[in-house]
Amino acid sequence: MKIMVSACLAGENCKYNGGNNRNESVLKLVDGNEVITVCPEQMGGLPTPRVPSEICDGLVMIRDGQNVDREFRIGAEKCLDIAMREKPDLIVLQSRSPSCGVKQRYDGTFTGNLINDSGVTAKLLMEYGYRVVDVEDLDL
Ligand code: SF4
Repeated sequence: MKIMVSACLAGENCKYNGGNNRNESVLKLVDGNEVITVCPEQMGGLPTPRVPSEICDGLVMIRDGQNVDREFRIGAEKCLDIAMREKPDLIVLQSRSPSCGVKQRYDGTFTGNLINDSGVTAKLLMEYGYRVVDVEDLDL
């Protein structure tokens, strides 16, 4: 099986604060399978560490009001290109991220409120019919 995963779940230090979201279930899942790691925010040209972002009225902004929507869209398109080329059987993404969140994301007020919506990359991949799973729903 070929699996695409959020790079931070595989232990890559690509998270906004320079850390990762290493996840033992993901590591177990990828063991013995072909794995493609992606970090759409880095692939869109954003640095690590970086200021956290949220989707505000349809645009991705960082807390000080700077618009980073273009970088997020570029990263999402690059992930889609990779998916179209590699044809993963399953895509596992990190929860609640403005890029990778599948079921929920922060609401754009930078107050910790969650809403039922997806991040930019997760949404694009689902629109194209890929099997996208939130890491919290990984059933092993
Ligand atoms: S963009 Fe996705 S892969 Fe990159 S750090 Fe954020 S959640 Fe992880």
